[in-house]
Amino acid sequence: MPQQRQEDILNSYKILKSDAKVTIFLGIHGNFTYFCIKITTKMLKFISFGSGSSGNCYYLFTERDGLIIDSGIGIRALKKGFHDHGLKLTDVKYVLVTHDHADHVKSVGVVSNDFNLPVYTTHAVHVGIDRNYCVARKISPENARVFEKGSTIQLGDFTVTSFAVPHDSSDCMGYCIEVDGVTFCLITDAGKITDDIKPFISRANYLVIEANHDEEMLQSGPYPQYLKDRVHSQKGHLSNKECAIALAENATPELRHVWLCHLSEENNHPELARKTVEMTLQSYGIVPGKDFLLDVLKRKVPSEVFDLV
Ligand SMILES: [Zn+2]
Ligand SMILES: [Zn+2]
Repeated sequence: MPQQRQEDILNSYKILKSDAKVTIFLGIHGNFTYFCIKITTKMLKFISFGSGSSGNCYYLFTERDGLIIDSGIGIRALKKGFHDHGLKLTDVKYVLVTHDHADHVKSVGVVSNDFNLPVYTTHAVHVGIDRNYCVARKISPENARVFEKGSTIQLGDFTVTSFAVPHDSSDCMGYCIEVDGVTFCLITDAGKITDDIKPFISRANYLVIEANHDEEMLQSGPYPQYLKDRVHSQKGHLSNKECAIALAENATPELRHVWLCHLSEENNHPELARKTVEMTLQSYGIVPGKDFLLDVLKRKVPSEVFDLV
């Protein structure tokens, strides 16, 4: 085709249909109409099925492989979430666990046993899950896989690197998951952002990060003092402000989308978390919505399906 004609077509095309896999272009040149179909084979999607003290569960999936991160919601809610999104739990291949608090592991034994899924976390977290009376069904020994902190493993399509997160559980890990050059990181239940965590914020194209509480609401709220101290401590939870500063100081132009997670029911509001993060970022010259998207994950309601690739 002559160069000029190709350029005319490219200049006048319309997108008729576009989804994660197929884009159909319509081009008109003189009396000719051209259709062009572009098929994308790569795919990476993310859903949150629950985020916060009532239960945490996130799902990443490609065309071939599914990876659950934390299984802290009930099995019925998990099945419903998958069904409502037209997904199959039989497509899940792996489970990663951040730590052994009930809101992250309540249903991990059931999920692992019913679908014969390997569960990856540190030895200390496996021991903690075994001892946790909230986990009624335990992970069978052959499915309890040890994932050393600070190491990288390949789980199907997912290249997963774990890193230490300070929290008052047996152990706690954040995860950095890479698929086809796209990097997704998850940092939750973090007492503070350590120097070990910062590089993972910088590496992320997609980031789930805790914005647990508003500091004033926590201090003036209904929690007893010992619980306020626990949440506020360097092994507790990340406040909206701490989250915002971590983002402002470490995010790069490669960051495309941030989801705030693990919001406290008593000590936070979704709009307050969003506003605090937005205003702090703006004071650093970063504009959420322009520089990257910013969303707040709901505590008990599954999110939409987000396309990462
Ligand atoms: Zn938690
Ligand atoms: Zn926790």
